[in-house]
Amino acid sequence: MQFSHILIRFGEMALKGKNRKHFERQLLENVQYRLHGFKKAVVKKTRGRMYVLLNGEDPHQVMEACQQVFGIYSLSFAIHIENDVEQLKEAVLHAISEDTEAKTFKISAKRADKSFPVPSDELNPILGGHILRHLDGVRVDVHDPDVELKVEIRHEGSYVTSKDYRGAGGLPIGSTGKSMIMLSGGIDSPVAGYLTMKRGVEIEAVHFHSPPYTSERAKQKVLDLAEKLSVYGKRVKIHIVPFTEIQQKIYKELPDSYGMTIMRRMMMRITERIAKEEGALAITTGESLGQVASQTMESMNAINEVTNYPVIRPLVTMDKLEIIDIAKKINTYDISIRPYEDCCTIFVPKEPKTKPDRNKTISIEQTADFSEDITKALHSREVVHIDSKKSAKQKEDFSDLF
Ligand code: ATP
Ligand code: MG
Repeated sequence: MQFSHILIRFGEMALKGKNRKHFERQLLENVQYRLHGFKKAVVKKTRGRMYVLLNGEDPHQVMEACQQVFGIYSLSFAIHIENDVEQLKEAVLHAISEDTEAKTFKISAKRADKSFPVPSDELNPILGGHILRHLDGVRVDVHDPDVELKVEIRHEGSYVTSKDYRGAGGLPIGSTGKSMIMLSGGIDSPVAGYLTMKRGVEIEAVHFHSPPYTSERAKQKVLDLAEKLSVYGKRVKIHIVPFTEIQQKIYKELPDSYGMTIMRRMMMRITERIAKEEGALAITTGESLGQVASQTMESMNAINEVTNYPVIRPLVTMDKLEIIDIAKKINTYDISIRPYEDCCTIFVPKEPKTKPDRNKTISIEQTADFSEDITKALHSREVVHIDSKKSAKQKEDFSDLF
């Protein structure tokens, strides 16, 4: 016996009233996109539910892919069989074997097709008894079972569902707008991107690089990080902005101690300009309060002054260890720790101001004019599109070589 379906449940979206239809449509599209590699699988939507018809695709691989799609709260394998007691017995046994840790279970049968000869309250003990006879070490607990096996008898056949698997939670990407993420090659910003996406936000990225001080490898690192993030959405568009000239000008013309603060303000300004052009309504950063000199309360206050766009800082209250845990979970950690120089680590002042004064920052900055440099950097940016479908395809092609 084989699982034929995966049942998808989406809790939080149900709360969204009028938007619900839009959310559901977006989720359907996102699941279809994520399952593009599983050619035979078909995704369907019914009232308040969604399911994947496996059509012979590997149930566990499809489950794993669905578990990465935001907006899904829980999932179960399901078996579709004929309305036949013997097949039902076999199906419940198969479904419970999916949960090797389950010590207690409950069968909940529902008979929508009243022409089926056995009423639900008689079916529960028949199916439960079959499990008890064939599986050691499990018992029935109707109040608080480790696993509840749901059996639905419908006209078109019966469905048996296994235990609940956890989904990624959150909201379907594309359902709440777009944010421009400032993506460095570090550990934090990819995690911030992931957490922003979790709230249904589509992301586009800006990366500042400073050739020849930063290498092609440093740039590639950021593209690789974006590829990991694209798995959760669809595509990630990255704007790679040349930043050398602005950094050199800050270094030459402004006092050392305020260099870092002003450099961050330039980054923020350019990001806001790109956000405006691209229709993003917010900016996301990987800042975490108190982590480094640029992330003190005073620094954030002085840097934030240049934009009135909402700045989403998903990591602001997190410890480094918590951030690293997420980075490992989403497979960005190993890329982030590759040792290539980032534009922020060059031209670092010997003694950066950890508590810059907001007004002093403004007056120092005004002693030089950066408007042309900003426009030039914007015009010379390179745009790269990372598509999770295409990167999966590339990998398939490479795998033929080995
Ligand atoms: P990360 O691990 O994300 O690099 P960090 O701990 O190194 O963060 P900072 O260097 O202070 O902290 O950077 C704070 C935030 O500024 C980053 O999380 C990122 O959002 C943004 N940022 C830093 N450098 C760049 C860059 N070269 N390009 C784009 N954004 C950047
Ligand atoms: Mg960094």
